[in-house]
Amino acid sequence: MANDTSIAWTDYTINAGRGCTKVSPGCDYCYSERDDQRWGNTFTTIRPRPKAFADMFALSRKVARERPGDTARVFLNSMTDTFHPAYSADYTAELMTVMALTPNLTYQVLTKRHARLRAFLTNVDWLRARMSNVASTYARQRPDLDDITRHVYDLPYPLSNVHFGVSAESQEYAHRRIPKLLAAPAGRRFVSIEPMLGPVDLETFGWLGGECGECQSGTVGFDEGTCLACSGAGRRPGLDWVILGGESGFGTGYRPVELEWMRDVVAQCREAGVAVFVKQLGTAQARRLGLRDFKGEGMSEWPADLDDLRVREFPVPVTLHAPSTPQLTK
Ligand code: SF4
Repeated sequence: MANDTSIAWTDYTINAGRGCTKVSPGCDYCYSERDDQRWGNTFTTIRPRPKAFADMFALSRKVARERPGDTARVFLNSMTDTFHPAYSADYTAELMTVMALTPNLTYQVLTKRHARLRAFLTNVDWLRARMSNVASTYARQRPDLDDITRHVYDLPYPLSNVHFGVSAESQEYAHRRIPKLLAAPAGRRFVSIEPMLGPVDLETFGWLGGECGECQSGTVGFDEGTCLACSGAGRRPGLDWVILGGESGFGTGYRPVELEWMRDVVAQCREAGVAVFVKQLGTAQARRLGLRDFKGEGMSEWPADLDDLRVREFPVPVTLHAPSTPQLTK
C-alpha cells in the first residue's frame, strides 16, 4: 500500500523492496536498517516486493478520483535502493513500466548506486523493448489496462514523470555521483544532500547547468532545456532540484551540519535559478537552537536569523508524458 509520509518533499512513499547494504558514510545511521532491526528482519537480505506494482496502480486511481487532472509525488523505495545490484534489471524494468502506466504520479527515485543507474537508463533500446513486453503481459492479464498499455512503446523517453536523483553527503560523493546522473536520460534530475556532512560546491563544476546561451539569464530557470526568460535553448544539462538536510537521529546517531554549508548551497541554487528545498536542520542544530522538533524540520519554530534557509521549492513541473493516454478511473 502507498503510505502517507512525514517526508516534506513528497506526498507518498511506496516500496517495491526492502533491505540494502551500506555504500558510503551517508549510510552510517540508515533509518531503513533501524526499522528492519526493530522488526527482526535481516537488513542485508534484499527482498523484492512486487505487490508494490498493484499499490502504484491503486494510488494512481485514487489520485485520479480525488484530484482529477492533478498529480501526486511518490518517493519510490524510501527503504531500499532501486539500483542495488540484487534487484534484477528485469525487475527494475517492470517498475519503470508501471511508472509509465501511471503518469498522474510523479516518481522520485533516489539512489547511491550511480553507476548502475547510468548503465540502466542509457540502455534505451533494451529498456523500451522490455517495457513493451511487460506492458503486453499486463494487457493480457488486465483487460481494463489495455487502452494504456499499448501506448508504452510510443512514449517519449525519458519518462517525464520519473525524476531520478543521487545522494551526495559530501563533496567527494558529489564528484562520484552527480556526473553519472547528468549523463543519464531522466525526466528531471535532483541531488539530495542529506545528511549533509560537509560543504558542497555544485556551481564550480557546472552541475547546476549553465547560462542561457541567448539571453545569458542564469536566474530564471529552464524547462526541458528551454530558457524560461527568452525561450531560447543553449543551456547545458544540470540539476533541476537540490534537497538539503542535516542528519536526524537518537543517542549519538547523528552528525552536525554547519548552517553556513546550507546557506552556501541555497545561494548557489538561487544564483543558478535551480529549485532548492531545505528539509531539516538535523538533530544537532535542533538541540543547539532548543527546537521542539528533534529533526529541526518545523520551520515555524526556527529563529528569525534563519529566514534565508526557509525555502522549499520544487522543480518546474513537466507536462504529462502522454496527455492523450486514458487514465484509469476505477
Ligand atoms: S543506500 Fe540508502 S537504504 Fe541503502 S544502506 Fe544506504 S542509506 Fe540505507
